[in-house]
Amino acid sequence: MGNRRLVHYATYYCRVAKITTENVECDVVDSYDKPTQVRTHEPRAIKPYCRDNACQDNACHCRHDRRSDRNAAATDATCVTAASSPHCQSRLFFANNDMLPPTQLIIRLAPGRVQAFSDLPAIDRIQGGPAVLLEWLETQLGLPQSDVHRAARVMQFADAIANMTGVCFEQSIAADRWETASELLQRRDQLMLCGWDGTILDRCPRIAGDLALAEKQYAGSFPSEAERVAAVAEALDAGQVLPNHELKLTEPIDLWPAAWQRVLSRLNVCDPDEVSPCSPELSSLLAAANTVRGQTTPSFDCDSSLRVAQARSETAAVEFVASVLSNSSETLSRTVVYCEDDTMAVRLDACLQRIGIPTMGASLQTRAHPVLQVLPLALELCWDPVDPQCLLDLLTLPVIPFPRPAASALARALSEEPGLGSGAWQDAFDSLCETSKHDVDHPDKLKERLHEWFCAERSPRGQPIPTNLMARQCRKVAKWAIGRATLIWRDENLSPSDEQVAIALREASRQASLLGDLVELAGESITQPQLGRLLEEVTDRGVESKPCLSDAGGPVRVRSLSEIADRYDRLIWMGTTTSDTKSSRWSVKQLADFAAAGVVIDDGTHALRSLRAAEVRGLCLASSTMLVIELPQNAEERVHPLWLAIREKIAVHRQPEKWTPAAIEDLISHSEVDALSPFVFACKTTNIQPPQPLRPHWDIPANLLRDRESVSASELEDRLACPLKWTLNYQAKLRSSDIASLPDEFRLRGNLFHKILERVFGGGGDLPTEDDAARLVEQTFDERLPLDAAPLAQPEKRVESLRLKNELVKAARLFVRTLSAGGYRSVKIEEPVEGSAFGKELRGSIDCLASSNDGREAVVDFKYAGRKKYYDMVTKGKSVQLATYAFSRSQSNGSFPAVAYLVLSDGTIFTPIGSPLSGVPTSQVIDGPSIERVWNNFATAIAGAEGWLTTDDPVPARPLQSIDDWPDGSELVLIEQLGRGETQSVCRYCDFKRLCGMEVTR
Ligand code: SF4
Repeated sequence: MGNRRLVHYATYYCRVAKITTENVECDVVDSYDKPTQVRTHEPRAIKPYCRDNACQDNACHCRHDRRSDRNAAATDATCVTAASSPHCQSRLFFANNDMLPPTQLIIRLAPGRVQAFSDLPAIDRIQGGPAVLLEWLETQLGLPQSDVHRAARVMQFADAIANMTGVCFEQSIAADRWETASELLQRRDQLMLCGWDGTILDRCPRIAGDLALAEKQYAGSFPSEAERVAAVAEALDAGQVLPNHELKLTEPIDLWPAAWQRVLSRLNVCDPDEVSPCSPELSSLLAAANTVRGQTTPSFDCDSSLRVAQARSETAAVEFVASVLSNSSETLSRTVVYCEDDTMAVRLDACLQRIGIPTMGASLQTRAHPVLQVLPLALELCWDPVDPQCLLDLLTLPVIPFPRPAASALARALSEEPGLGSGAWQDAFDSLCETSKHDVDHPDKLKERLHEWFCAERSPRGQPIPTNLMARQCRKVAKWAIGRATLIWRDENLSPSDEQVAIALREASRQASLLGDLVELAGESITQPQLGRLLEEVTDRGVESKPCLSDAGGPVRVRSLSEIADRYDRLIWMGTTTSDTKSSRWSVKQLADFAAAGVVIDDGTHALRSLRAAEVRGLCLASSTMLVIELPQNAEERVHPLWLAIREKIAVHRQPEKWTPAAIEDLISHSEVDALSPFVFACKTTNIQPPQPLRPHWDIPANLLRDRESVSASELEDRLACPLKWTLNYQAKLRSSDIASLPDEFRLRGNLFHKILERVFGGGGDLPTEDDAARLVEQTFDERLPLDAAPLAQPEKRVESLRLKNELVKAARLFVRTLSAGGYRSVKIEEPVEGSAFGKELRGSIDCLASSNDGREAVVDFKYAGRKKYYDMVTKGKSVQLATYAFSRSQSNGSFPAVAYLVLSDGTIFTPIGSPLSGVPTSQVIDGPSIERVWNNFATAIAGAEGWLTTDDPVPARPLQSIDDWPDGSELVLIEQLGRGETQSVCRYCDFKRLCGMEVTR
């Protein structure tokens, strides 16, 4: 390395590139994917380098531009640019020691970074905590920088301690090896940083001796902070020279850990700058700044430099601050918003974006990013039976390994029959595979993809799973995610939001490959809880999500006052609490023993003092005004010590009254827009649109309605019970959301019972014997449950699924016994209806049509549950759907058949005395009218209640009408006296409740 040095920030990918001008070499240090890559090139002519990504001059750019392969960028950083480009020349960061002032390093003991207040990185000023200094040192010395996931280190340490006996943590290892390893590793790292050399020292606590034994086993291929600092010290000892710099430490060197002291003593340490309050003389803000600096200050009141308010809700707080910011656009870029709560900062950004002012680029570290859900959901595919909710969640994620139409088709199948392998799933799957054959560009590609993801080997749920199976699945996710990210990066029109997706995909890939490595280290098999622990560890840091980008000229958001290092105008402090700092891992006695052995460990005091001092400096840099907003949740959290000190002074000044800040909601309701001047907000009155009231009549011109060309049993019932529902469904063709969801458990059980009966009895032919029927039902139930109703096949539903099987077997026995006794010899399941009604074709299917050798027929409708409901329907002659099926059969058979309801969960048959099913004991036949009479009443009621369809009469929502307005016969499908909490059955699964006003829209 020569003395003359050019340092510049390279492309987005190459975080820092160093180019020396004498040796003429170009090194790239630290890329995203290969963090530890340094390479020296043969000397060549120095070429200037353009930093502007928007620059269209290809010659200006390093050939590893934004869309290039990252690994290539990391391993081959040949920054070839055109020296002649005037564009480049104007943007070069080009200097040598004679031209550049020394690099200013302003470093504190407390961890954390400092916010840049301008778009350009300050290359000659580095500020922050130890991590920032270490990064700079490693960069300058050409040392590898590593970004190792903590879980990888923990796994190595867990391996090292796995077989240790006779140590003080032996029982902890047996109880929870991972957590023990995690805790011990953190202790070991801290000890190393404080000067422990990994050997047994006299007078050290016992744990240090045991850790020394563990140290002998620990491979430690990933360096800790102590080892990185030691590498820096060794490089300096070996004669490497740092560039000209001035290191300003805000705490004395002797407060730093021993490993650091060795390095710091080799640097050019200068006295730190004193930071004095920047606020106006005699202002409350100055008094507040002096208070937090520890100066003796008399109590003071709030003037225009210091305003305090409270909000009763977060919504009011963010809307208020957004309004204040929009009313002071001239100082927007000099405003700092201090908000520790990431979620609230993101909400504030959303408000700023909505009202059209520059946003802060608030981000939150989240594990809930949709892209990060692919790995845990994909792992669920390795268990048998697959949890259909997880499968559905995977298929409905916004970024998935399948084309969206294919995923939607499979999701729809799942919502019909929830299970991987159900009939509906298999139909959809086969159809997609068939379509894939005819794909001209990529024949069979989709088929291969679907087989790869859904037809792989699975392991029984509840038992340990082979780790190679799990590792394969992890690698599948990793490969897909990084491939997809690469595709996005290659896109010429890469948008900022695409880039965020690509970053999340890269993180997903990293998590998946790390998890794959970790599960392989766990041995031949792994249990579900162990896997959950590893998954928790690898996903713990989530990914940064930034819903709004940081706009030029917008306010700056900080998570801590210690992030502020430049003078600014206004401070808006949202939420006056702060999180607790970490407590010491060591007891007072242990700390004393270590100190006696020469290992001095900070119990947290030095770091905390450093943090508070940095926060005081950040607050003192406010030059004009400060607005503090207390939030409702602050009452139960730890108040920030700085605010506590300031508030105390204000409260004392206001004695004897008990002081409470003005509430934002009150200021808004009284339109006191300048009560907190200069923090002025805007107020306007808006009439709130009331929700849809109950609307029993809808004026729809008759010429917009057209009768249908076919009818079905359920449609006829809707038509009489609620013409509005019929109109919205069959005329307006309104459909519920396409978002697939699994059926509720009631429907799920009903569908499962129907499907099983269809499989057992659907083949036609003679009725089986009662015992054969029971055996077949039992067998089919066991086969189909995990496929067609997988939610009921999960281990926690075992008791319930057994009960369901018994219910169905009992119902099947009753069914066969009754039909056999009645002389019925064959049954047809899901028999299509025939004939016509009201001059239109009849459509639909009959659950069960039984026939006897002498030509008698019986229609049996299967119902999952509803003993009382179907009993009432039979006795009161309201079984209109059954009547429609019977009417259909009467047209082909010449007479109305016998009818019955079979209530499956109860194992009960209801048949009316007017049309009795033969085989039902006479004592159990119910007093009810014949099915022919029910049909005639139903047909008459429909014919007499159709004015709304043929004239300009309004379309009624009959359940909302007064009973007096119901036409004759409506009671066939509507209940006149609803019980408490009861609804009309036509409304129960209606999708239009919010349209008619039945359900209030909030
Ligand atoms: S909720 Fe009831 S009243 Fe409203 S549209 Fe649906 S069926 Fe008619």
